[in-house]
Amino acid sequence: MHRQYWAILLGFFYSMLLASCAVAKDETDILTGYETTKVAAHTWYIPGPRETPNVKNKGFMNNPAFVITDKSVIVLDPGSSLMVGKALIKRIRKLTKNPITHVFNSHVHGDHWLANQAFVEENKDVKIYAHPNMIEEAKNGEAKVWIDMMMDRTKGITKDTVATIPTEVLKDQQEIKVDNITIKAHLANIKAHTDTDAMFEIVEDKVLITGDNAFNKRATRMDDGSFVGNMKVMDDALKLPVEVVIPGHGASGGKEILSNFKHFLELIYNTTKTAMDDDLEVYEIKPKVVEKMAKYQDWTGYKAGIGKLVGVAALEVEASDF
Ligand SMILES: [Zn+2]
Repeated sequence: MHRQYWAILLGFFYSMLLASCAVAKDETDILTGYETTKVAAHTWYIPGPRETPNVKNKGFMNNPAFVITDKSVIVLDPGSSLMVGKALIKRIRKLTKNPITHVFNSHVHGDHWLANQAFVEENKDVKIYAHPNMIEEAKNGEAKVWIDMMMDRTKGITKDTVATIPTEVLKDQQEIKVDNITIKAHLANIKAHTDTDAMFEIVEDKVLITGDNAFNKRATRMDDGSFVGNMKVMDDALKLPVEVVIPGHGASGGKEILSNFKHFLELIYNTTKTAMDDDLEVYEIKPKVVEKMAKYQDWTGYKAGIGKLVGVAALEVEASDF
């Protein structure tokens, strides 16, 4: 064969090889493109996408975090599927061989905890902790709701995921000591983002994992929550001796994340309440709220979600009048 044909043929096989590698890499590592980010001496997290679950993000959409202690690893909100959990373990293994012994879940929404399965498969003795209501609600149907929702939104990409519900029941202010690190659980005794919320303070690192009680540059969903409760939880969190905040969605930062998010909720709730006190019709309320929220209009999900948020706020105002 002519030398030129050989070159073309080789070039063709080489590009095929590259293409197959790219596909393989994509399939095995759902976290590709999201960097492991160190926020304190022992604490890392992976800033996930701010969008809702879809085929492109394969359901990955939260901020999985982990703490490397002297002898162990603690994982907080591991993510939405078996695939995310396995990829997170790979990331952890790049930094340490310590066994992963403790997992904490912030609330019942499956994008934060359906990856638990990977950690039980890796270490059958792993302890998984959550708010007692989270465990109860997951058992009473919420686990299935989230498994089905992830399947639907990702068109079946999460099909291998089996709900692995936590077994360790947390108490408010409970301190779990793991080697040289203390995890302090802050459980809301009111409805905030949900009625299953736990926030976790990594005491020695002055880090707070808020779960979905705080978002950064992303609008929240209050369908299962309470504006007033969530604002109260933000006030409480602002008093904690922490310097770094890892929100449920959006990038980490300082305590300004808590005050910004409280302000976001406050503008919606208080504007809605004032408008209702002035006897405005529901359709007249949204423009009043939008007018005040210019600062937040670029937040992911804001434009699509603000109408519903005002609706939920209006129901809460109405309920509080009885
Ligand atoms: Zn949530």
